[in-house]
Amino acid sequence: MVIEYVGQTIRQVIADMREKRYEDEGIGSSYMFRIAQDAIIDATKCGNLARFINHSCNPNCYAKIITVESQKKIVIYSRQPISINEEITYDYKFPLEDEKIPCLCGAGSCRGSLN
Ligand SMILES: [Zn+2]
Repeated sequence: MVIEYVGQTIRQVIADMREKRYEDEGIGSSYMFRIAQDAIIDATKCGNLARFINHSCNPNCYAKIITVESQKKIVIYSRQPISINEEITYDYKFPLEDEKIPCLCGAGSCRGSLN
């Protein structure tokens, strides 16, 4: 286990409202992580270091949703030994959308977009 992705658990309607508000406020990146059909963890204003982990198409970690005392949590686990100063990354696995977000991960196996 590397770190838990901490934030505020919110429903889809709230996530949609916040996404618009963050856009209006000029907060570029969204730190929302879906854990269920109607549950999203929002780390935009109350997260920990996990929210700064970048995406990679060839990552050294992966995110897993686990249940602890009936509460869903996101935990980042390593896939392999990680060296000192090596960047920690995981695959965001964003759903496919028409409007593509370009991926700049630099991996040889890069898919070219995050979604
Ligand atoms: Zn990539």
